[in-house]
Amino acid sequence: MKILITGGAGFIGSHLVEKLLEEGNEISVIDNLSTGKYSNIIHLIKDPNFKYTLDSILNREILKKLIKECNQVYHMAAAVGVKYIIDNPLLSLRTNIVGTENVLEFANKYKKKVLLASTSEIYGKSNKMPFEEEDDRLLGSTHITRWSYSASKAIDEFLALAYYREKKLPIVIVRCFNTVGPRQIGQYGMVIPKFVRNALLNHPITVYGDGKQSRCFCDVDDVTDGMIKLMNCKKAEGGIFNIGTDKDITIEELAQKIKKMTNSRSKIEYIKYEDAYEEGFEDMRSRKPDLSKIKKFIEYKPKYDLDQVLEKIINYFEK
Ligand code: UDP
Repeated sequence: MKILITGGAGFIGSHLVEKLLEEGNEISVIDNLSTGKYSNIIHLIKDPNFKYTLDSILNREILKKLIKECNQVYHMAAAVGVKYIIDNPLLSLRTNIVGTENVLEFANKYKKKVLLASTSEIYGKSNKMPFEEEDDRLLGSTHITRWSYSASKAIDEFLALAYYREKKLPIVIVRCFNTVGPRQIGQYGMVIPKFVRNALLNHPITVYGDGKQSRCFCDVDDVTDGMIKLMNCKKAEGGIFNIGTDKDITIEELAQKIKKMTNSRSKIEYIKYEDAYEEGFEDMRSRKPDLSKIKKFIEYKPKYDLDQVLEKIINYFEK
């Protein structure tokens, strides 16, 4: 099968590319390397089943041609990372909203199935735990840039659902919770690559707030496996699915664990949110997916626990 992966040079996208190539598919990637990296796909460039286009999903002509040529689209291209969104609010909104509209418009024109990568940011700062797909969302003021990401991805979901309902375009929406693994970088704010890198360099590990906030970190291998199964599950069409793991850890415990696993001499420092991000920044105290829906549709059981994925990430950074 011919598969287009937008954002295929990104962290999750590049793992998806490898998996789908291994399955014997022909893969085409479009990525403008805004947050993706050429080094994530360089080892695939000589593969005759792999094609890379250096461009943005805002380039409609190129995107149209690439979608016409494929059978399925994994739409992974998006502005991601809390810090990246806060530093680049305008470009993030345009990429997430206009870019997704472009993908859906052309996918509809040529009737190609789309998997839309969405996010747990959708749920906002709601205290209900765990999050179920049908839950209400709770967002803060529009003065707080963080919420623009949640709002932009919600528009993406509305668009995909509208194409499904009005135009019968087959789509499936996947809400990724904290996904981690080799190739993720800390530059855009993601906590695990930041902590591992700093621990290995014996630099301070910076815990924001009181460190009692918690997250569930899932191995990218498990997330991409689940995505491929959902894409190929007829019953899942038109549906929204949480994906990730439901084993949580506080950020303070995470810092201690990484320090121990790397035998690091780093100090663990506590920093105010305002100093780390922007004035008025709001964080989620916890974030955990309810995974019952995905388990009803596909065989889904994450294979790796946090210690195993941390091992992989530490090895990656050591290299
Ligand atoms: N965080 C932290 N120190 C850092 C980077 C992040 O304490 O250097 C915290 C952040 O405030 C949040 C958690 O780690 O509570 C996860 O952050 P990340 O940006 O990785 O993901 P998200 O906030 O989207 O869950």
